[in-house]
Amino acid sequence: MRNILKTLQHYFGYDSFKHNQEAVVTSILNGRDAVVLMPTGGGKSICYQLPALLFDGVAIVVSPLIALMKDQVDALKQNGINAAFLNSSLTPAEQQLILPQLPAKNTRTGKKEGLKLLYVAPERLMANDNSFINYLKEIKVSMFAIDEAHCISQWGHDFRPEYLVLGQLKEHFPNIPVVALTATADEITKKDIIDKLSLTDYGLFESSFNRPNIYYSIRPKYNYYQQLVEYLREHRENSGIIYCLSRASTEKLAQELRDEGFEAAAYHAGLDRKVKEENQEKFLRDEIKIIVATIAFGMGINKSNVRFVIHVDLPKNIEGYYQETGRAGRDGLNSEAVLFYGQSDVFKLRSFATVENNPDQTLVMLKKLEQMIGLCETTFCRRKYLLNYFGEAAPDQCDACDRCLSTEEKRDATEEAQKILSAVSRLQQRYGTNYVVDFLRGSNVVKEEHRELKTYGVGRNLNKEQWKQYVRQMIQLNYLRQSGGEYPVLQLTEASGKVLKGEERVQLLPIAQVKKEMVNKEVVSVSEHPDLLKELKDLRYKLANEENLPAYLIFSDATLMELSNYLPLNEKELFQISGFGDVKLARYGAAFLQVILRYCEIHNLTSLIRHKPASARQRTSGGKAKDTKIITLEMFHQGNTVQEIADLRQLSKGTIEGHLAAAISTGELDIFNLINQEKYDQIAAAILKTGGTAVSAVKELLGEQFSYGEIRAAMNHLQRLKEAVSVATERSLKQ
Ligand code: ADP
Ligand code: ZN
Repeated sequence: MRNILKTLQHYFGYDSFKHNQEAVVTSILNGRDAVVLMPTGGGKSICYQLPALLFDGVAIVVSPLIALMKDQVDALKQNGINAAFLNSSLTPAEQQLILPQLPAKNTRTGKKEGLKLLYVAPERLMANDNSFINYLKEIKVSMFAIDEAHCISQWGHDFRPEYLVLGQLKEHFPNIPVVALTATADEITKKDIIDKLSLTDYGLFESSFNRPNIYYSIRPKYNYYQQLVEYLREHRENSGIIYCLSRASTEKLAQELRDEGFEAAAYHAGLDRKVKEENQEKFLRDEIKIIVATIAFGMGINKSNVRFVIHVDLPKNIEGYYQETGRAGRDGLNSEAVLFYGQSDVFKLRSFATVENNPDQTLVMLKKLEQMIGLCETTFCRRKYLLNYFGEAAPDQCDACDRCLSTEEKRDATEEAQKILSAVSRLQQRYGTNYVVDFLRGSNVVKEEHRELKTYGVGRNLNKEQWKQYVRQMIQLNYLRQSGGEYPVLQLTEASGKVLKGEERVQLLPIAQVKKEMVNKEVVSVSEHPDLLKELKDLRYKLANEENLPAYLIFSDATLMELSNYLPLNEKELFQISGFGDVKLARYGAAFLQVILRYCEIHNLTSLIRHKPASARQRTSGGKAKDTKIITLEMFHQGNTVQEIADLRQLSKGTIEGHLAAAISTGELDIFNLINQEKYDQIAAAILKTGGTAVSAVKELLGEQFSYGEIRAAMNHLQRLKEAVSVATERSLKQ
C-alpha cells in the first residue's frame, strides 16, 4: 500500500487517488483483469500506468490514435518514466530502435531498466502473421491495457474493426492481466467489451459519469453572435472549442472571430491534412486559444485545460453533446459548456435525420434528436437530465447549471451591495473593480493608508470572483457606474445613495460562483492572485516552447492554480503542490519558485501552504538527493547568487557551493560563470604552490577574499583539465 502511494507521489506528484483508481490498481496488482468505466478527465491513465511501474516488465498499451499515443508518451517522459510508442508515424529504422529496449524475460525484481510502457496500435499488436505476438512471448510483458476499449463494440459510436482481433489476447496470454478502459457508459457496450475480450475473472469498476466541474448552460440562439463575442471577451485568457454543424460555418466563424481580434482557427475533415494538423497543434500549444470545429475535432485530444466548449448549433444527440462538452475541464478545474438553442436548428436537424431507405434507423435518429431537444427545453436541472439519460440517478438540484441557478430568482443582496458601495465611497471613487474587491477582502495588496478605513476587510466571506460578479450586476443595474478609459474606476450613481441609506433594497442574481460548490471540494478553481497565475502560465508556455511540447504536459492548470493560491516559497513547500513529482520538481521547481518569490516580495505576501488540506499521508522525499544539485544549477543559471540560492532553498551556502563545484567537475558549469579570470589565476597559483591537494592549505594562503567553494570549484576545474589532457595525450600516443 505504502509503495503504491509512494510511486504515485514520486512519478506523478499526486498524494491521493481519484475516483476508484486505488481499487483498480490494487486489483490489477493482484493479477486480475479489470474493466474500468470512468468519465473523461476521471484519471484513467493512472489506473494502468501505476501498476505498469510497480510490475516487472513492460506494459503493452493498445490505443487507437497516433496523436494520443505521442501525447501520453511525452507526458510519461516528462515524469521520468521510460515509455515509447510503435506506430506508422515512425520510420522502420526508428521502430527498430525500440525493440531492443524491451525487457528480457528473466528481468529481475526491482531492476529498473528497459521500457515500462509501450503504446501500440491494435493492428500492429495483432499483425496477421502473429509476429509481434510471438515476439512479446519472448520478452517480459507485465500487463495489457486497452484504452478506448469501447472501440471493440459495434454498438459503441466509435467502432473500429481492428479492435476485434484483441479478442485473441487472452488465448495467447492467459496469465497476464488485461485492463480495458473507456469513458463510454452504456450497458450494451460494457457487456460487449467483456464478451469480446473473453474476460472471465475480472473486476468491474464504474464511476459516476457526472462531471462536477462542468457548468452547463443553454441559451436562446437569438443574437447569438453578440452573446458569443461577449462571452469570449470575458474569457480571453482561456482555451476553448466552438462546435458548428457545417464545415463552411466553421471557416466563416473562425474568420469573423479573427476579425474581432481573437486567436481562432477552423478545423474540419475537409481541410488539407497539413492545415488540420497545424491548427490542432497550435491549439494544443496555446498558440491559438479558440478552435472552431465540426465534430471531427476532439477525439484523442488530451489537452487538459480546455475551459469552455460552446455549441453554436444544436448537436444531433445527447451522446455527442456529452462527449463534446466532456472535453472541457479534464484537469478538474471549473469549466463551462454553453449551447445556443434555436428552432431553426430543430427543423434543419429533423430533415437531416432521415436515413434513406432505412425507416428504422431514421426513427432512432429522430428519437435521439427529440431527447436532445428535451434537454434544451427542460425547466429542471440539466445535469439530472443528462445523468438520467445515461441511466444514472442524480439529485434534483446540482447548483451548477443554468436551471439550478435560474436567472429569474434574484435574491435580496442589499447587505453585499452596501458593502461594495461603501468601499467605493471610502476609496473616493478613484479605484477599479479589482482594487475595490481586494479592499473588501482585506487583501494585503491594498495600500497601507487604506487599511485603516472602515470597510477594509469586511468582505472576507466571499471570494474575489463572487464580489466581481456582484459588482458587474450592480453596474448593469445602474447602482454603480464604470468610467471609461484604460483604467476604468468605479463611481457612485444617484441610486447608490438610496441603497447606502437603506431606502432601497437591491435584488441580485445568486452568484454563479455557487459553481465553487460544484462538488470538487479539493480543487479550488479561483485564483487569489490572477496576475501571478498569468506569470506562471507565461513561464510554463516558455518552458514548453523550449522543449517543443504543449504547455499542459509541463504542468496542468490545476497545478498552476495551486501555486498561485498557496504561494510555496521554498522547495519543501513546493513539494506539497499536486503535480510536482520528483523529476518535475528537479526540472522546473527553481524556475517556478523564483516567479512566486518575486511576486510575494513585491506584494508583501507570505506562504499559505499550511492552509492546503492535509494530504492522505506525509510526503516523502525519496530519490531527491540526486536531484538537488540540478536544482541548484538551474537556479544559478537563472541568475541567482550562491547566497540567494542558499536562502531560497534553506540550505547552507557551503552546500550550494559544493553543488556548483561538482557541476564543474562534470562539465555542466563553466568555471568562469563562478569566478573571474583574475581570481581564478590567483587560486591556480596558490594550488600550484601548496601542491594542490588540500583545500584548507590553499585557503590559508589566500585568506578571507576567497571562499572554500570558490577554491574547490577551481580545483575541480583544474582536475578536469588534467584528465582531458591525459586522454588527449593517450589518444595521440596510440596514433
Ligand atoms: P482520462 O484518461 O480518464 O480522461 P486522465 O488520465 O487524462 O483522464 O486524467 C485527467 C486529469 O486528472 C489529468 O490532468 C491528470 O493529471 C489528473 N489526475 C489523474 N489522477 C490524479 C490524482 N490521483 N490526483 C490528482 N490529479 C490526477
Ligand atoms: Zn442543475
